[in-house]
Parts: sequence; structure tokens; C-alpha cells
Amino acid sequence: MEQKYADIIIDISHENLDKTYQYAIPEKYLETAVIGALAIVPFGKGNNQRKGYIVDISSVPKWKIEQIKPISEIVSDALVIESQLIHLAYWIKETFGSTMNDALKTVIPVKKQIKSKEKKTIRLIVTIEEARVHLAEFQRKNNKARVRLLEELIQQDELEFELVTGKLNIARTTIADLEKLGIVTTDVEKLYRNPISSQEYQKNILELTEQQRFIANDIIGEYQSGIRNTYLIHGVTGSGKTEVYMEIISEVVKEGKQVIMLIPEIALTYQTVMRFIKRFGNRISIMNSRLSQGERYDQYLRAKNNDIDIMIGPRSALFTPFDNLGLIIIDEEHEGSYKSESPPKYHGREVAVKRAALSGASVVLGSATPSLESYKKALDGEYKLYTLPSRIGKAVLPKIWIEDLREELKNKNKTIFSNKLRELMEDRLSKNQQIMLFINRRGYAGFVSCRSCGFVMKCPHCDISLTYHKSGNLVCHYCGYEESMPGKCPSCGSKYIAAFGTGTQKVEEMVKKEFPQAKVLRMDMDTTKNKDGHEKILAAFANQEADILVGTQMIVKGHDFPMVTLVGILAADLSLYAGDYRASERTFQLLVQASGRAGRGKLPGEVVIQTYQPEHYSITTASTGNYISFYEKEIAYRDLLMYPPAAHILAILIASKAEQKAMDLAMEIGNTAKQWVEQNALQKSTFVIGPAAAELSRANDIYRYVIYIKKKDYDGLVQMKNYMEEVMNGMELIKDCMVQFDFNPMNSY
Ligand code: ADP
Ligand code: ZN
Ligand code: ZN
Repeated sequence: MEQKYADIIIDISHENLDKTYQYAIPEKYLETAVIGALAIVPFGKGNNQRKGYIVDISSVPKWKIEQIKPISEIVSDALVIESQLIHLAYWIKETFGSTMNDALKTVIPVKKQIKSKEKKTIRLIVTIEEARVHLAEFQRKNNKARVRLLEELIQQDELEFELVTGKLNIARTTIADLEKLGIVTTDVEKLYRNPISSQEYQKNILELTEQQRFIANDIIGEYQSGIRNTYLIHGVTGSGKTEVYMEIISEVVKEGKQVIMLIPEIALTYQTVMRFIKRFGNRISIMNSRLSQGERYDQYLRAKNNDIDIMIGPRSALFTPFDNLGLIIIDEEHEGSYKSESPPKYHGREVAVKRAALSGASVVLGSATPSLESYKKALDGEYKLYTLPSRIGKAVLPKIWIEDLREELKNKNKTIFSNKLRELMEDRLSKNQQIMLFINRRGYAGFVSCRSCGFVMKCPHCDISLTYHKSGNLVCHYCGYEESMPGKCPSCGSKYIAAFGTGTQKVEEMVKKEFPQAKVLRMDMDTTKNKDGHEKILAAFANQEADILVGTQMIVKGHDFPMVTLVGILAADLSLYAGDYRASERTFQLLVQASGRAGRGKLPGEVVIQTYQPEHYSITTASTGNYISFYEKEIAYRDLLMYPPAAHILAILIASKAEQKAMDLAMEIGNTAKQWVEQNALQKSTFVIGPAAAELSRANDIYRYVIYIKKKDYDGLVQMKNYMEEVMNGMELIKDCMVQFDFNPMNSY
């Protein structure tokens, strides 16, 4: 029998994930030595027995055969979570095309030695009167630092250590001196870096409506009778999906199981999080990108130690090491952010379904605008479909106006506000109600060009136009390159060079000009750069500190603003020009989600959609909120052109600093693909497109080429990828290039 070898990671929580050691698999373990299995192996010079996990298996020895030690034992009944996650990593590598290493790094949180955070506070241990006596003495001795600290402590009897050493600029030695004098003390409290405090814990459970109850009971009933399934809840904005999720979570937790709840990062606001905390208290943890690496690791530890039952977070929360997972919920399942943009370019929804299968869990997906992928699966019976067609209580869906911008121009209206929108804005301002103005980020032009010769200012490192900022600088949004605005055209010397297009800043300016009495807040990439910037703006708007909020898609998620009764969508169709097959879907989703912001309280809402293409189906169907009508038109288009979900697309990105090498390798890979198609007589079902220069043909001085392969069946496409990967690894040029696979890409390259 052929000798097999296993790559093993020793002690996964401490060792570098890149380091694997090869062991021989004794014959008696050939069946149990699978990927993810826990193995006991002799390690190091002393051959101490250590635990390890198998991450790969092959027939090729990496060293001299005599030097490869055999595995001592496979612990086959070990149902450890690590085994499951490694298995998942392997599946991700196979299904989405990446290295095992990248897949492992995605799935297993790497432990870095980070000191668990301590909260240090300084406080007075003398009475205020005594402190005043000391203060007087220090003042007399002109001991400035001591004076500063004491003055501060007399005002508030406790100060954070960091504040004292930082902002107050007081040396540690000064603090130590006062400690020795018995005036102050430093308290140290070890924090379990828990990013949320849960004082507000209370059980205020709403009585579900009949429709909500039906869905919750159905899913819970199936769960309790042992059925595991994937469910899709298609419910309009404000229809009470979140309440349904919470009801199901509560039952699953009662059974002693754990729950992962995915929410897109931008929707993970304080308001959303508090709803969960109020219901589930401190058995819940939140993960988001603002947590430090240490904080993040602690959350994993809490999950592993059974300190929590529920993890809420974006895509990465999917890999929470719960060993008794019962349920995964994905809210706003259509969101593009569930797809990873770096290798492995996996889709969270599919990984969730796989992880659920591995651990015997169910999956609940929810959206007001389901992805075509999920809705098709629901119609095909693969997912179980529920609908919540109306809003809770008296809240009704808003009235929607479509305004044709071409007509406005004909009527000599050159502003960015249609007459209808202006009229409604005036009305709301006079009633002290709030307004949201939404612009499509994809339409965030602001590029700078010459009116004489048409020259466009581009980034010298990326094939992308620079964007004008109010600071006077031109910025590349891709790599961060900045330069100052030129006084004349670098190409023809004309002085008529200027910024075009309507960005958020421009809209803000125009609103201020047209409605000088209104208070305006702006939310975009610039105003939300700081930690919590996003949260602060939303909170200010919720507190009615402003009448109008101007923003990009960031503003359409996550917050309930009961006083918002008007939403204006300034240029609805800009995303239609984005030039990829998901453009209509994205436009529809944005319009419906943005409309969903209006009239969420007691007051009814109105929405004005301004567009140059009022007849386009993604605009007409969005204006009536008719998802099914949109779905039917869109799926017909995808069917016709073999776009997902009607078929599958594999994008192969080839990039290199050397343009010629990238081009040549792309040609070679393209030819390999075409040969495979011919050899297997797949010309009728498999289409190789390209290679071609990518849309973003140069980024950070790296040249990019792309090949697209379209194919009906996913498994066939994976097979083809595996074959090409093998051939590619033997190509000379691969050393100077980078190749990435992307199945069913969210954006065009
Ligand atoms: P969705 O997640 O579909 O947008 P939510 O669950 O956020 O909907 O519900 C919308 C609003 O209606 C929220 O303010 C929520 O508190 C309220 N709500 C939901 N279900 C009920 C119910 N059964 N009774 C009363 N209010 C409810
Ligand atoms: Zn750049
Ligand atoms: Zn010019």
C-alpha cells in the first residue's frame, strides 16, 4: 500500500500557523487520519508526545523517508472544535480556491501574546480637606505636576491612569511620589476586554404578531424535532425580522446551544447591539473591526470557554469557536460585505451553510431585498421561504415619487434638487421633521478634468482618476496618493481645469446654500475616519441636532430615525452604469433600503427618487417595492447571459510589477483553460473570456489582467480550477506574478 504523509500543526493555539511538520501515517490510521483529525506525535529531539492537527495529506515525502517520524496515535473520537474549523478551512480552500495557509488564517484566530488589558485608576485616599492642605504646600513649593494632579483629583475623586499620564502630562514618578506620601493610590483591575457593558440588561420581550409568531414557531418546531435546514425570511424593512431572530435565538439557547448572528459591519450600530444586549444580557459578545486584536482574541476565548452563547459580528464572526453551535443567522443576507475580498475569496453565506452542516446547526437568512442567489434557491426548494410583507403596527411603507431629471433640465432647473424634492424639503423643514439625502457612492465622481482638452487627472500608481477634496488636494481613493490641485492643465496648459460631479461635500454645500436655515450633517468616508465617527454622527442625527443628513450608502443601514419623514435619492441610476452584471440588483437594493429609512415612526414617510432613467426596471420595481417583479426581470437577464445564479463565474486575476510578465502568464493560463475545454468537449457549456487588461488595469504600480470562465455547474468549475492550478504551478512566469481565484465575484476586476 502506498505510504501517506500528513502535514501537522502542533499546538494550534500557540504555534505559528505557517509551520507544519510532516509525519508518516501508519497503516492502521489510514482511515481515521483525515484533515482536521487530532493526532499525537513525537516532537523535537526528546520525542515528547504532543498534540497536533492534520491540515493536509499527500503521498509525497518532504524529507528523506527515514527522517519522517510516524504518527503515534489518532484521537478519532475527539470532537474538538479545532478539528471542525480545520475541516472547514480545507473546504474553503477547495471551494473558493486559495492556499491552505490563507484558509487556516481565516478560520483560526491566531493568538498573539497580548497582555490582557488592565484598567488602572488613580484616586485620593485622603479627605478633600487633607488634599487641600497638601495642595497648598505643593503650590508653595511650586511643584507643578503634583499641583495639577491634586487639583484634578479634588474635582473628581477618580482618574484614569492613561488620562493622567497622557492628557494631563504627569510623569509616572509623580504619581509614585504621591503614593509614597499616602495621598493617592492606583487601583488595578484586570479587564476581560469586554467591549460592551451590560448594565442595561432587562427582559422587555415584545409580543410577536401573528405573522412573526408563525415563522418563529415553524423554525423552532423544526429545530426541536431535529430538522436542520436553511431558511430565508423575505421581510420588508421594519417588518419585524429582528424580533423573529431573537425569538428563535432564545429557544436555541434554551436547548444549550450556541448562536452566531452575522450583521454587516455598517449596520452594527449601538442601537442594534443594545437591542440584543437588553434581551440576552452578558451571555453575548460583539465583534467588529474597531476591536483591537487582543479584544478580538478575548472574544474568541470567551466563546471557547463557554462564557457566552451568542456572538454578533460581521463575516469573521462566522468562525467563532463554539463547540455546540445550533444556529447561524445572517441578517441583510444580500450584502456584498459577506463576500471576502482577499484570498480566500469566500462567501459568508455559503460558508455558513457548510459550517452549519458540519456542526448540526440551522441557518436563517433575512433580507428586505434577498440576493438573487438565495431567492432562487428558495424558489427551487433548497431553502425554506417565509415572507413578512408589511411593517409592524401603524407604520406604513412610504409614498414614492420618481422624478425625471431630464425633464428638470428641460424646465431650466439646474440645481441638484428636483422641484418635487425641494417642495417636500421645505415642507419638512417647516414642520421640524427630518430629511435624509442619499447619494450613490459609485456615483461619487468629483474627478478633475480639463474643459479644453478633456484631460483627466489620474493617480500615477493606479489607473484611477483622482478625487477633489475640499482641502484643495487631489486624492487617490485606491492607494491614498495625494497631490495638490494644479493651477493649469498638465496636458495643454489651459487654466480651465476643475472638479466635476457631485460628491457628498458638494451636496452639503448646495443644501446649505438653498436651505440656509437648515442644520446639515454629512456622513461619508471622510467624516467617519475616526473611531466611532460613524456612531457619533448617527447619534447626533437621532438626537435631532440636525435637520438633514447627507450621506452615502452608509446612512441607509442600522438606525431607526422616527422623525425622518423624507428621503431624497439624488441620482438613483448612477450605480446602473457601474458596468458589472450586479448593477441592477445593487441599484434595486439601494433604493429599497434607502426608502426603508422613511416613515419608520408614527409619522408617514415620502421618498423622492431622482433619475435619468425613470423607465428602468430596477427603478420602477423599487418604487413600488415589488421584489418579485424585479426578481423575474433580473433572473431572465441572468439566464440569458449566463450570469450567476443562472451559471457560475470564475475570475482569475493575474498581477505583476512587470507588465509583460503578467500579460504572458495571463495568455498561458488562458490557453490552458481553452485547451481543457476542448479536450473535454465542453464548448457548449463552458466559456473562457479573455485574458484582458482588468478594468482597474494598474493599482499601486501593479499590472492586472483578468480571465473569466463561465460555466453552469459549480463543481465542474472547481475541477477546472484545480487542473489549472496544477498546470500553473509548473509555469516559469508564476514566480514573478500573483494569481488569485474569485468565484462569482461581487465586483468586476
Ligand atoms: P426589521 O428587522 O424587519 O427591520 P425590526 O425587528 O427592527 O424589523 O422591527 C421594526 C420595529 O418594529 C422595531 O422598532 C421593533 O421594535 C418593532 N417591532 C417588531 N416586532 C414587534 C412586535 N411584535 N410588536 C411591537 N413592535 C414590534
Ligand atoms: Zn493610487
Ligand atoms: Zn487640457
